Amino acid sequence: MTHVLQHRPQDITVDRKAGTVTIRWGDGHISTYTTRWLRANCPCATCREERRSAELDPLKLVPGPPPSTEIVGAELVGNYAVRFQWQDGHGTGIFVFASLRASCPCPSCHPEGPPPLLPPA
Ligand SMILES: [Zn+2]
Ligand SMILES: [Zn+2]
Repeated sequence: MTHVLQHRPQDITVDRKAGTVTIRWGDGHISTYTTRWLRANCPCATCREERRSAELDPLKLVPGPPPSTEIVGAELVGNYAVRFQWQDGHGTGIFVFASLRASCPCPSCHPEGPPPLLPPA
């Protein structure tokens, strides 16, 4: 059942100082995501819609301060996902572990650099 191990974190470490979230997976692989990347790839409906309209109209200015990239809390959703609470109050994005694993930014998974959040492999 390596498939399950790959998508099941052993532990999740949020390093607020470094601005990173490190996941050690059941198969021993380690993925380190920047909180900036996580926020930029927030999978909630609101953020997806914002990114879509920014793509359609790159000149459109978003009112207000940029989204916070500081994580103040993390909570498991069942055993398949994690939800991050951001410092600016946002907290509806649910990151599915299989997607996070597929998007692992380490050089052996993605030598060309971190991809956007990918669908589950
Ligand atoms: Zn969001
Ligand atoms: Zn990797």
